[in-house]
Amino acid sequence: METDKLKEEIYLCLNTRCNYCRDVCGAVKRYKMDFNSPREKLELIYEIFYNNKNIEKKVIDIIYRCLACKKCAKACPYGIDTSKILWYHRNLIKSYSIRRYIFMIAYLFRSFIK
Ligand code: SF4
Ligand code: SF4
Repeated sequence: METDKLKEEIYLCLNTRCNYCRDVCGAVKRYKMDFNSPREKLELIYEIFYNNKNIEKKVIDIIYRCLACKKCAKACPYGIDTSKILWYHRNLIKSYSIRRYIFMIAYLFRSFIK
């Protein structure tokens, strides 16, 4: 199952601290904020989807910060494709109930007008 395979890749990354992906990541260069590296994004995905942490506005925003350049996958010794994992989990967010989705959008919107 796709989820299990991607979850395994996330675990593999979280047990590795190589961070080779960080130096090549366009999102790290573009967004000067914490949690931008591919590994940090995977950690957030893990916390949200597999460790039952609440989805916060800040977190949702971060997992959408990916240029889909796939440089991380080329730099990673395991070939972990962070953009693929991010896209998959974004789609999971979309497939949540409409009520939850609207709640998230409202949360994001509120953050933009602050
Ligand atoms: S695909 Fe996304 S996470 Fe990977 S290097 Fe490019 S911007 Fe960074
Ligand atoms: S290079 Fe690969 S294993 Fe290393 S931190 Fe990045 S995604 Fe994880």
